[in-house]
Amino acid sequence: MRTFNKLLFGTAGIPTSTPERNTLNGISHVRKLGLSAMELEFVQSVNIGADLAKEVKKAAEKEDVTLTCHGQYFINLNSAEKAKEEASIQRILNAARRAYECGAFSMTFHAAFYQKDDPKKVYETVKENMKGITKTLKDEGVNIWVRPETTGKPTQFGSIQELVKMSSELENVMPTVDFAHLHARTGGKYNTYEEFKEVMDLIEKHLGKEGLNNMHIHMAGINYSEKGERNHLILKESDMNYTDLIAVWHEYKIKGVVICESPNIEVDALLMKNEYDSNKKIFEHDSVTPEFDKSQKAKAEYNPYKAGRK
Ligand SMILES: [Zn+2]
Repeated sequence: MRTFNKLLFGTAGIPTSTPERNTLNGISHVRKLGLSAMELEFVQSVNIGADLAKEVKKAAEKEDVTLTCHGQYFINLNSAEKAKEEASIQRILNAARRAYECGAFSMTFHAAFYQKDDPKKVYETVKENMKGITKTLKDEGVNIWVRPETTGKPTQFGSIQELVKMSSELENVMPTVDFAHLHARTGGKYNTYEEFKEVMDLIEKHLGKEGLNNMHIHMAGINYSEKGERNHLILKESDMNYTDLIAVWHEYKIKGVVICESPNIEVDALLMKNEYDSNKKIFEHDSVTPEFDKSQKAKAEYNPYKAGRK
């Protein structure tokens, strides 16, 4: 599995400002914008063929852009109809396989609806299905994180507690933490420094450093009612407290990928990246700069002749 030494920022799909919008141009445009990640949106269908996948992988490597993937919306791992549940499993597998061929490190999706079932029973059903999915992928050598996402409505399976628990019990599973969804599904909670810290503490406690060093995050402004998520908003036009959230990311020194899902994807992705970068100076513990300095110093002091080489 891929490891990270910093937090990367990117767009949910091809940036809007990409000339001739397609996946390959999107990847190079992400780099031009000064971002370093992009999510492949398979939300309607797996819209990248096997041949294009090879080119996508090459382009992402060349531009040093980290890819993630969003699986299809039509997924319910807790359907009363077995055929629908089976189709959901196949959709997740197909998205994960193709995303892996594209070089993506993580694939996320909305796992299930509670319907009228007891959440504990739903948890067990989703877990059983996830277990099968991860086993199939492992047997096929498809080395990608499969990540149920924290969902935006209380009718949808996917609280942070459920996903952290499942991730601690299954291999190759981690949560995708959508902070806007957490905020919306709880009718406005998860929007203060302390509440954001709760999320990080939960991850650290149950998933350890691996959880914090390997994040797949979604962020956006969000409009919500007592029924949860309504639609995504531009960050500055929403009540989302992104500055405190970003400060918490620094405090916990998290690493991985932040994907922006605001309607103005690249604008808000850059807004968050700039906020994050300007915060770096405040959070002295950030390890990137001191380590860089140390290695530069070591390089400057290293003298091959003194070290005995001629
Ligand atoms: Zn999503």
